[in-house]
Amino acid sequence: MYFCPLYSGSSGNALFCQYGNTRLLIDAGKAGRVIGDALEGIGVDPATLDGILITHEHSDHISGAGVMARKYHVPLYATQDTWLAMAGKLGKVPGDLIRTVQSGKGFWLGQIGVEPFSIPHDAADPVGYRLWGGKLSVSTATDLGVFTGDVYDRISGSTLVLLESNHDPDMLRANPHYSPPLKARILGDRGHLSNEACAEALLRLIAGGTRHLILGHLSGENNTPVLARHVSENAMLREGVRPGEDVRLEIALRDETGEVYILKETE
Ligand SMILES: [Zn+2]
Ligand SMILES: [Zn+2]
Repeated sequence: MYFCPLYSGSSGNALFCQYGNTRLLIDAGKAGRVIGDALEGIGVDPATLDGILITHEHSDHISGAGVMARKYHVPLYATQDTWLAMAGKLGKVPGDLIRTVQSGKGFWLGQIGVEPFSIPHDAADPVGYRLWGGKLSVSTATDLGVFTGDVYDRISGSTLVLLESNHDPDMLRANPHYSPPLKARILGDRGHLSNEACAEALLRLIAGGTRHLILGHLSGENNTPVLARHVSENAMLREGVRPGEDVRLEIALRDETGEVYILKETE
């Protein structure tokens, strides 16, 4: 199973996954041309994509989705309410490329088993995804105000998890460019996960067996990759977990295509 965070952050999200011959994206939140170039950069012809799974209608997740669907004839998958909320934002999407998913209802997309699950975020019906390739699974959860027990149950035991480490609460509160309502929205239960909340969630995921963790959806103004990593590493060390030895901890960057991670079944 291959996984590559092409882009992750409030300036655009697109995550690539492949198992067997099946290739898909989670979100297409940058210009179609930019995502197409990033795919070609990792040796993937965008025309070979089998689907694009949409998490929610915010523009950093869908801005290139309509273009990619039309240009490469790739089906788009989203919940019913997300489709309604996206109407008018994607341009015309041909009917045969419209697919509807439902939280808690798994399905096969080629050889990949897809499990959408609800996340608490201020969108119509936002979801994260767990993707299965054989016994391996990759889960992604960004844009969530709190890491709920339900989200944990859905992604616990994943081989790899990409989890949001959005902001440092102090940097956010002190940011003069953000209005008080915007700050309240980000800090709220349907906003974004802080570095500290992410670190705590990672410890639970590690206890549940996950050994490969990627921090994603970092804020450009209210966080830095160094700080996000520091908070998660410290939390791990406090619990006796050695990053780099017991677990792999990486960062998905905002404007730089990440590594292609290769996951293998060990036994
Ligand atoms: Zn987002
Ligand atoms: Zn969002």
